[in-house]
Amino acid sequence: MPIFEYKCDECDEEFEKLVMGPNPEIECLKCGSKKVTKKFSVFGVSGGDKPVPSSEGSGCSSCSSSSCSTCH
Ligand SMILES: [Zn+2]
Repeated sequence: MPIFEYKCDECDEEFEKLVMGPNPEIECLKCGSKKVTKKFSVFGVSGGDKPVPSSEGSGCSSCSSSSCSTCH
């Protein structure tokens, strides 16, 4: 079930809405205006800063050595 984030063009209120149909009528939760802009789907967004896997030979998160031969 997709959840979309909207921003009201009238009062700049930002809100999330669960969209049920193909042509949903979205109203601003604050002022009731239908002039809203869909921003993006929250569904499936993992949120930016993923832990980058360390490159080979640079150790791992459970040890600080560079060889990392005892913890694997
Ligand atoms: Zn509004």
